Amino acid sequence: MQVSENRLDKKDLAKYPFLKETKAFVSRMDVPLDSLIRAQSGVGVRIKESAAQRVRDSLGFTDFGLQPDIESVDDEILSYAVARMIVSCLNDRMIMDRLARYEAERAYHFLQTEAPAKKAYVAHSFGLDVDAVEMGVVFYVGLVATMKDPKWRLVNRDVRHGMVQISAEEYDELLRERIRVVIRSQLPLEIPGPIAIRLRPYADAVSVAYQEKILEQYGEVDEGSYPPCMEAIIRAVAEGTNIPHTARFSLTAFLHTIGLQEPQIVEVFARAPDFDISRTMYQVEHISGRGGTEYTPPGCQTMKTYGLCVNRDAVCKEIAHPLSYYKRKKKGRKKEISESAGQ
Ligand code: SF4
Repeated sequence: MQVSENRLDKKDLAKYPFLKETKAFVSRMDVPLDSLIRAQSGVGVRIKESAAQRVRDSLGFTDFGLQPDIESVDDEILSYAVARMIVSCLNDRMIMDRLARYEAERAYHFLQTEAPAKKAYVAHSFGLDVDAVEMGVVFYVGLVATMKDPKWRLVNRDVRHGMVQISAEEYDELLRERIRVVIRSQLPLEIPGPIAIRLRPYADAVSVAYQEKILEQYGEVDEGSYPPCMEAIIRAVAEGTNIPHTARFSLTAFLHTIGLQEPQIVEVFARAPDFDISRTMYQVEHISGRGGTEYTPPGCQTMKTYGLCVNRDAVCKEIAHPLSYYKRKKKGRKKEISESAGQ
């Protein structure tokens, strides 16, 4: 089932602004997008502000709950285009990931109540057929590569004659993932210098909001809340044990994610007797994202397979990631401190 593109109306373009028809629509607008971005007042400023807000919304985004609102169709379409430019100016992997996830989730919510023919058209734009009840193994494996739920693993699927069986609900989830992957793969865009200059204040504001989110999430570093696995690695380093690469990587990524600066992380490794500053600096900078990829620490399951999950305690039974351990323990310690202060 398909719908021809001329059956899409303007509101559809606002709902699915990543479609090629939206690009054509923007290029036909009376005021070119470049001029709007250069504008220092009026509609141009409003669009830049709403684009920056769109990116900020994506940073703290967890779930839409209700369907997202479309207040102004033109503004929605343009703010999507400018939001992609803003994140491209920042060129920060995490921020681009968040925007792609947010946009895919937003479209997914609209698709839940979409007319079948339009839904089919959106799916078709991403190489999917919503009426299909199965998918070729190779295509399927590529599509679910970054999906974490074990239900997507091939060993847990019903595979018949090289085809993976898919339910209608699962198809929607796969479509959402496909949209996310495609949007992400298009970022960063190349932004001409003069446009980047106009967008810089908005990009800077997004960057500040992002830092705030990270701080809100993890707050000040609290060594007393480190999970047992990370404590054990730190102790091993201090005692001069030759730790494996997986341990070095896990600890560095953990410390970086909870907010330690690179010199502070290097300081942890400086306790080792065979400490080599330039080698350590290089590794820490690489894992912290200087090479363009910012790494996150492995989850408990992977830590177990590395042989790094040691000295498990009661909190470990309730979590699946060392970062969740840290957040939970820290919250508990904060509560204890404020209760004893109030006594
Ligand atoms: S369960 Fe997780 S947090 Fe606890 S020690 Fe093992 S890896 Fe670390």
